[in-house]
Amino acid sequence: PSPSPSPLPPPPFKIPPIKFTKLFINGQFVPSLSGKEFETVDPRTGEVIVKISEGRKEDIDVAVNAAREAFDNGPWPRMSGVERARIMMKWADLIEENAEEVAALDAIDAGKLFHLVKVLDIPAVAGAIRYYAGAADKIHGEVLKASREFHAYTLMEPIGVVGHIIPWNFPSTMFAAKVSPSLAAGCTMVLKPAEQTPLSALFYAHLAKQAGIPDGVLNVVPGFGPTAGAAISSHMDIDKVSFTGSTDVGRAIMHAAASSNLKPVSLELGGKSPLLIFDDADVDKAADLALLGILFNKGEICVASSRVFVQEGIYDEFEKKLVEKAKAWVVGDPFDPKSQQGPQVDKNQFEKILSYIEIGKQEGATLLTGGKRVGNKGYYIEPTIFSNVKEDMRIAQDEIFGPVLALMKFRSIEEAIKGANNSRYGLAAGIVTKNIDTANTVSRSIRAGIVWINCYFAFGNDIPYGGYKQSGFGRDFGLEGLHKYLQVKSVVTPIYNSPW
Ligand code: NAD
Repeated sequence: PSPSPSPLPPPPFKIPPIKFTKLFINGQFVPSLSGKEFETVDPRTGEVIVKISEGRKEDIDVAVNAAREAFDNGPWPRMSGVERARIMMKWADLIEENAEEVAALDAIDAGKLFHLVKVLDIPAVAGAIRYYAGAADKIHGEVLKASREFHAYTLMEPIGVVGHIIPWNFPSTMFAAKVSPSLAAGCTMVLKPAEQTPLSALFYAHLAKQAGIPDGVLNVVPGFGPTAGAAISSHMDIDKVSFTGSTDVGRAIMHAAASSNLKPVSLELGGKSPLLIFDDADVDKAADLALLGILFNKGEICVASSRVFVQEGIYDEFEKKLVEKAKAWVVGDPFDPKSQQGPQVDKNQFEKILSYIEIGKQEGATLLTGGKRVGNKGYYIEPTIFSNVKEDMRIAQDEIFGPVLALMKFRSIEEAIKGANNSRYGLAAGIVTKNIDTANTVSRSIRAGIVWINCYFAFGNDIPYGGYKQSGFGRDFGLEGLHKYLQVKSVVTPIYNSPW
């Protein structure tokens, strides 16, 4: 079978009306000060879904003022962790109760598979909120016995007003990864969703208010990067910026932070993650894993296994199976439960991916399957596999962020490790082997923030996640994901006549 010639028709799912299209500032939905709006587009058709108020610098200023007031004088940082947790738990419940509606928003805004968002992303959002709610009353410093003359202890204080800037590929889980730990820490915040996908963040803001998160604590300001985003990273009254997105924009954000108030930043950036498959692997299962690794979320995932290295003994069989499976992969409407891959997020991304496919051909790689758009409407692209890829080709070095896989062959473990590390990125890696020594050696040799052995995309609220090298620094999730929103204050006092 080959990929369907045109995307499957949408099933009779009724997309709910879009309720929230304005900026959420200080607990209210308000139009932007300029009155400007921008269009958010349905990637299934290229048609406009709805117009959204466009936040700019002046709106960010208003939102930061609200967050500053809520931090300096409001109840959120001052209430007990137990109280913050109770409100956050309520919010998580409300999100689950509205799972279908919010999943539909991500599906039309980002082209994500509706059925998967419902069973993966939304439970992950509720789970992250509950995980960090559970930590909210366990934030504490240490007692230090500085010396006989001094007693000292540390306080863990919320860092203040946080600016979050997030991408479009996981609008819900990125939102939760940033907002939940910073809320648990007692921070207040301004979040800018990606301009392609503002809908779910506004819906979550509405539910946050219902749950009792006080006004001004969580502000959501949709808008563009160079205006609203840049206003966050260069703001003099934001105490920290947490960013997920591309490496180039991460660099700009770090510059802006350095040349404004020197606010700390954490950057979760791009990737070009290797998957290493050794001769002793079950070839069929390994091919499934490699395919999922590149095609999940249509390749628009920072940890996609976009470079697959296969050992020579199984290479030919692996390649054959991979191509067969790729041809059987179903590209279609994200609301159809049979679809395994929806459209790319927008025209830019669609064109960028197709241009990389041309680059791969020009560089001399062999196109084994795919390479074309699917249908003639919307932004669907065939699962695409290149073989005979050389490590220095652009399709092996640049992040394509689409369903395009570069297949390479290796002989020895040393060659595999060298190939895997031959990248400016270091976000994730996968290993498939039954040999524990191979697994141990490779996992310790690869410079990446997460290594999956005999699995891929295994995420968890308690598993820290982030990059080495130009994939950024700082971690989301786990307690590391909480600590970046806290500051340590040391308190020291003299002790007179200590008996000890
Ligand atoms: P992007 O960097 O273009 O945009 C991300 C966000 O930054 C958007 O909200 C955008 O409006 C904003 N932005 C753009 N220019 C800005 C500027 N000058 N100042 C401040 N903000 C600005 O990335 P994208 O295309 O939305 O997302 C794809 C990229 O994100 C890929 O490189 C991918 O690897 C990366 N990503 C990384 C992770 C991770 O956890 N490491 C997760 C998801 C996506």
